[in-house]
Amino acid sequence: MEHKLTLYNTLTRKKELFVPLHSPNVGMYVCGPTVYGDAHLGHARPAITFDLLFRYLLHLGYKVRYVRNITDVGHLENDADSGEDKVAKKARLEQLEPMEVVQYYLNRYHQNMAALNVLSPSIEPQASGHIIEQIEFVQKILDAGFAYESEGSVYFDVEKYNRSHHYGKLSGRNIDELLETTRHLDGQSEKHRSVDFALWKKASPEHIMRWKSPWSEGFPGWHLECSAMGTKYLGEEFDIHGGGMDLIFPHHECEIAQSTAALGKETVHYWVHNNMITINGQKMGKSLGNFITLDEFFTGHHKLLDKAYSPMTIRFFILQAQYRSTIDFSNEALQAAEKGLQRLTEAYERLQKLQAAVETQGIASLQIADLRAKCEEAMQDDLNSPMVIAHLFDAAKAINTVHDGNGTISANDLAELKDTFKLFFEDILGLQTEEQAGSSNDAYKGAVDLLLQIRQQSKVNKDWATADKIRNELAALGFEIKDGKDHVEWSLK
Ligand code: ZN
Repeated sequence: MEHKLTLYNTLTRKKELFVPLHSPNVGMYVCGPTVYGDAHLGHARPAITFDLLFRYLLHLGYKVRYVRNITDVGHLENDADSGEDKVAKKARLEQLEPMEVVQYYLNRYHQNMAALNVLSPSIEPQASGHIIEQIEFVQKILDAGFAYESEGSVYFDVEKYNRSHHYGKLSGRNIDELLETTRHLDGQSEKHRSVDFALWKKASPEHIMRWKSPWSEGFPGWHLECSAMGTKYLGEEFDIHGGGMDLIFPHHECEIAQSTAALGKETVHYWVHNNMITINGQKMGKSLGNFITLDEFFTGHHKLLDKAYSPMTIRFFILQAQYRSTIDFSNEALQAAEKGLQRLTEAYERLQKLQAAVETQGIASLQIADLRAKCEEAMQDDLNSPMVIAHLFDAAKAINTVHDGNGTISANDLAELKDTFKLFFEDILGLQTEEQAGSSNDAYKGAVDLLLQIRQQSKVNKDWATADKIRNELAALGFEIKDGKDHVEWSLK
């Protein structure tokens, strides 16, 4: 396949040309959410980042098997080896069956993803449905001699592994230092060293989610599910493994150690990580009170939000930054993104109505011919979405010039511009105009149009009271109504 797509590989710390193992097939695994609460902004960024990569790989002609897991067991509080399971804790507090909690939040997660126009992955495996595979994986690590059993639990022996392999290669953490500071644990805990991590945990009597295993009735460690499910669906070696940067250590570092220990080889070729999101310069956290869920963004119901922001505004805002740079959310920045998206959407809608002329004048014809190549080049440079957006803004300028009567466009240029704009705006960036964003939107537009028709009729009938009432009530709801010569335009402020 002819392309020059480069991706920054966290493991080698450089941009590399993307060459899949079994072209045209590509295997991609992305760590999905732990479903014990509503999805927030932190979930939107990896979902959109890897949706962008998924869409672009499909555009290049690859057949992509995209696996995004759902964590529903084994993820303990503070991402640690002890403490309550996040899902089980929620179930206890809400007096629900753990799988009720999982289903409830999974449904809501899917609704949020659909609103953000994130494509569904090819496979969405749940950890609780893959206990057998995880037990088998633990057994392989034990057989290879890189794990030990202790009081019904099984731990990964980091020090032993590090003698023949490099624990810390992904995160760059200094394992000698880690070992040095943890050597005194011996004999005081089930674990030989605190740096060791759980592959299987024996369940305490009050622990709800438990399965039989050769070692104890218990549950798998959090890192294990991704090694087990990734290799089950994508093979012992596959192309891309992604997630947020916060997962590099310990989660992905442990995954590398587990897979290498069990299979005797490196499983993942390209490790891709998106950077984090801060809110008004602060890290997101429950204790900081700035944990804004996606639903709260969509409705505006949060004390830190001035107003509601549409899912497309959130998507556009995230795509305005390259995935490896940080993003800081603020009302100001979101409102700027909203305006920017509006400008692009308006130009895209105008583009559909432009009439072709004999030749292109007043706008640079060359720019149209180059637009596609420039956008491709930006995408191939480690998914430089902000650069693609900048090129689309240039195109929007040209569209507006023709729309305002200050230029003309030839049939060929118009066809090329329509094609390129659709490809990058809709198919690759995954943006939608308001009309495309859903039928409920159509229904509401239809209702406003209907009210305005009744108002027109009232004017014809000289029923000024009704006409004024409709206008004033719509204005109070935030609609701006402009009476033209022969038609009425409206927009939502
Ligand atoms: Zn994972």
